Amino acid sequence: MHLKRLGMSGFKSFADRTELEFPPGVTTVVGPNGSGKSNVTDGIRWVLGEQSAKSLRGSSMQDVIFSGSDGRKPVGYCEVSITFDNSDHQLNLDYSEVTVSRRVYRSGDSEFYINKQACRLKDIHELFMDTGIGKDAYSMIGQGRIDEILSTKSEDRRAIFEEAAGIVKFKSRKKEAERK
Ligand code: ATP
Ligand code: MG
Repeated sequence: MHLKRLGMSGFKSFADRTELEFPPGVTTVVGPNGSGKSNVTDGIRWVLGEQSAKSLRGSSMQDVIFSGSDGRKPVGYCEVSITFDNSDHQLNLDYSEVTVSRRVYRSGDSEFYINKQACRLKDIHELFMDTGIGKDAYSMIGQGRIDEILSTKSEDRRAIFEEAAGIVKFKSRKKEAERK
């Protein structure tokens, strides 16, 4: 499974629809300060379900919507889509390509989609559980994260190994069953 494509529209500095293709192998994003490199990774975390405005460097969730620039009006909503090659079916869906999308309006209404089917945030979490993909999963290592992992409590560190071992979904189902 690999990340194939990222599409952003009205997200942060990407007012126009912007598509980034990621061929297999290593891709590096380069550009001057303030050109939107970090906004790309913010977009990936946001579409995977990031709910903390602060961690997206804003103060409210609507701050991710393009707020206008010189000669350019703000937009009313934003959308980010991320597409994975799923030909190895690591994501438990019968599709060889999986696209997850998220949209948010200035009113605060938020929508999630898996392959264009509306779904809940919970479905996104479950889809990526144990795959290493997710807003906090080990496939996204932000600045300072290594120090955080090394200095964190052993139980918290264990969570990283549990995700890598692929047992998080069983723990999550057990917890849910115990609540019922
Ligand atoms: P650096 O090299 O300094 O880390 P960068 O390439 O990572 O820079 P970003 O932090 O991704 O840059 O982009 C910052 C730019 O995005 C700023 O110019 C900021 O005004 C713009 N920006 C962020 N949110 C919005 C928004 N909601 N609407 C319009 N522009 C935005
Ligand atoms: Mg940056």
